[in-house]
Amino acid sequence: MIKPHSSLAAALTALCLAASAAFAQTPTPAPSASSTPSVENKDVIPEIKTRGKLIVGCKYDVRLFGLNNPMTHRVEGFDADLGRAMAKALLGDEKKIELVETVSANRIPFLTENKVDIVISTMTITEDRKKQIDMSDVYYMAGQSLLVPKGSPIHSVKDLDGKIVTTVQGSTSEKNIQAAAPNAKFNLLKSYSECFTALGNKQADAMTTDDIILLGFKATAPDKYELVGGQFTQEPYGIGVRKGHEDLLKFVNDELAKMKADGRWKALYDKHLKPVSGQSIEPPQ
Ligand code: GLU
Repeated sequence: MIKPHSSLAAALTALCLAASAAFAQTPTPAPSASSTPSVENKDVIPEIKTRGKLIVGCKYDVRLFGLNNPMTHRVEGFDADLGRAMAKALLGDEKKIELVETVSANRIPFLTENKVDIVISTMTITEDRKKQIDMSDVYYMAGQSLLVPKGSPIHSVKDLDGKIVTTVQGSTSEKNIQAAAPNAKFNLLKSYSECFTALGNKQADAMTTDDIILLGFKATAPDKYELVGGQFTQEPYGIGVRKGHEDLLKFVNDELAKMKADGRWKALYDKHLKPVSGQSIEPPQ
């Protein structure tokens, strides 16, 4: 018969062994939202060529960049046409594209979940985003600003204390405005067209995002609204590519460089953005 004290000793020995085994194990780092996902590099261009179309995430409600025309069902704008240029270069025909609507908050999940090949959706290149996806070289340089009704007492971010500001969830605009005007109240919505409606309905005193997006909305009612406060951030736009698809990232960057050099970038700028910016500019380097 085993004596009680020896069963206690056996239990303690077992506990010590288990504890030392646990310490001997290589610690597994807890997954964190900001940690770089480990992805295997894989050539994806052959798959896209077999499929015969490039799947591109794009805004559907942002004038100048990606606006779904309800009459023609064609998505119009700089980003949509940039996607068509990529499809033409890759597959020989700009019609070999499938556009998918992306709002700001789902752009990265759509890439990581393989729902789209690339995202061209007024997306600022940030260090945080580059931990989750790859981003191309800069294709447009914007800056955050404010849109207000004409005659508003708001002239800059300094006038936003206690005022309601609307912008979109998952955008840099959301983070930037919370840092620049911490005493404002925020009406965070899913899309920029919803923000513009909220501004029109007086559910917000100001709307904030990139100046070029605001100019597109202002152009629909130029007598009612104005941009104020200048650019208070820099927003370099890049094309999002899933991590590990290095062949596609290289293709996108090479094609962007060609478009900047051969006049196609400028033609897109002059067609979509110059009519509202009123400026003639060179492509970003
Ligand atoms: N460029 C900013 C961003 O990527 C604001 C515009 C947008 O939400 O698409 O977050």
